[in-house]
Amino acid sequence: MHQFHYSGPDLHCESVDLAAVAKLYGTPTYVYSAGTMADNYRRLRQGFAALDPQVCYAVKANSNLAVLRHFANLGAGFDLVSGGEIRRVLAAGANLRTSVFAGVGKTEEEIRLALENGIFALHVESEPELARINHVAGQLGVQAPIAFRINPDVDAGTHAKITTGKADNKFGIPLRQATAAYEAAAKLKHIAIRGVQMHIGSQLTEAGPFAAATEKVGALAAQLKANHGITYFSIGGGLGIVYQDALASGAAAWWEALPPERRPLTPEAYGAALTPFLAPLGLKVLLEPGRFLTGNAGVLLARVEHLKRGAGRNFLIVDAAMNDLVRPAMYDSYHEIVPLHRDSSRRALVADIVGPVCETGDCFARDRSIQEVGEGELVALLSAGAYGFAMASRYNTRALPAEVLVQGSMFELVNARETFDRVIALEKIPAFLK
Ligand SMILES: *Cc1c(COP(=O)(O)O)cnc(C)c1O
Repeated sequence: MHQFHYSGPDLHCESVDLAAVAKLYGTPTYVYSAGTMADNYRRLRQGFAALDPQVCYAVKANSNLAVLRHFANLGAGFDLVSGGEIRRVLAAGANLRTSVFAGVGKTEEEIRLALENGIFALHVESEPELARINHVAGQLGVQAPIAFRINPDVDAGTHAKITTGKADNKFGIPLRQATAAYEAAAKLKHIAIRGVQMHIGSQLTEAGPFAAATEKVGALAAQLKANHGITYFSIGGGLGIVYQDALASGAAAWWEALPPERRPLTPEAYGAALTPFLAPLGLKVLLEPGRFLTGNAGVLLARVEHLKRGAGRNFLIVDAAMNDLVRPAMYDSYHEIVPLHRDSSRRALVADIVGPVCETGDCFARDRSIQEVGEGELVALLSAGAYGFAMASRYNTRALPAEVLVQGSMFELVNARETFDRVIALEKIPAFLK
């Protein structure tokens, strides 16, 4: 459920008319709903209420400072994958006491930054990495709190580029090597064993793979609790969202009308499926959701440049492009695209909805049916709050888009549109070319 809806003919985010946002800040612009993020956060915690979980928001999904501050205010910690993300959380006014630091290639400098700022734990993906962490902790004269990321070899049944829990992925250490890895860690002077972690992939819409992985790693967790006194089990992120019927899925009635077997996994069902494996362990449970918290809480506003009627194919050319939202080009992903102003007197149009970038892959949707919209009119690409701005680039020397946060009837620019001067600020012509 989310808070993007038509009020009369006009698309709103909470109580804010999105056309007003586009008028004030231009396009392309990301707009986020603080209320939707808060609802998602509370529903997820509620789904696991019996376990009182610690939610560590996966910053990589949407790392805007305002979004981070919002989640910190709600009580979340953070799942971090770089020194830059650590600095963002600190810049947002939060601390690292309930945050974890993951990733397969942490540098010494990043490890130092995490330890100096009192990170809850580092999630370790290999034995060479463990040695590096032990070394840095020794230099600082501290013990580094750690958990190993275990790869349970479970197929998440999601897109190949976002599957992370199979034996042939680069992530984590294999289940059968886990016991030896923990024994090695126990011998290191500057390592404090704290927990166990897994993360099997992203955009999962069924409970089966989560349950299979939790059962496998749960059995290990019980042993580790007995042998090494671990205190927590992080079950990772990966809970999926609705992309196909994004607008309709804002209403509770849409979910209730679906037969249970066709209903995408809800946070309530996710919690209910995993709690039976987790509760008997008596460990603190960490959740690391990214997409679920922010994905359906954001849209990308764009303006129509032209409707180009080709031979047998129409192209709706908009001012947003693959550099602003790369998911369709990168993951073949679906985003629902709707007009900001609904007009029942207009005909439907079937078109490819594309950006202006010089790549055939710069296509948001093929053969999409949409109400006829003309030059200057506005559209919204839905479910763009996660892995949207966070993956944006300046390809084709397009400046990064603006970001706006809405709460109720209030809205504010939380990231100004980049200027051309900023884009080229660090570039220079070398003396030998002058
Ligand atoms: C990316 C990632 C997440 C978040 O994944 P979502 O699918 O956005 O929930 C959580 N944990 C780890 C270790 C990750 O790499």
